[in-house]
Amino acid sequence: MSSCVFCMIARDEIPAKRVLENDAVIAFDDIAPQAPVHVLIIPREHHADLGDHVPAETLRALFEAVPEVAAIKGVEESGYRVIVNNGRDANQTVAHLHVHVIGGKAMSHGMVAFEE
Ligand code: 5GP
Ligand code: ZN
Repeated sequence: MSSCVFCMIARDEIPAKRVLENDAVIAFDDIAPQAPVHVLIIPREHHADLGDHVPAETLRALFEAVPEVAAIKGVEESGYRVIVNNGRDANQTVAHLHVHVIGGKAMSHGMVAFEE
């Protein structure tokens, strides 16, 4: 996907502060962090969302990277929240599957805020 911003990050065409990478996934700091730790994990291959024929090994690689990212960022013990915004109602703004890892500060219990 030539115009996809996360594909461009994967191809190193636009810069990102990489946290980890392997053959399957790349993790990098969110450009507009919503917490002290806010990392995005993406598959190198383009899939628009979880419904876009994502191979099981890709899903596995994405979620195996989560605790690795947490350890690198120092929030493994304190905890973190993992979010996948999927589609319109979830306000997914970048149509390349990504996992948010958010932490570094205590969060409220509720995790869903609705538009009025
Ligand atoms: P979504 O709302 O789709 O779940 O999350 C997309 C996330 O990507 C947002 O948190 C946004 O700040 C982040 N983002 C969008 N464009 C860029 C970019 O060019 N670089 C980085 N590092 N993050 C981005
Ligand atoms: Zn893409």
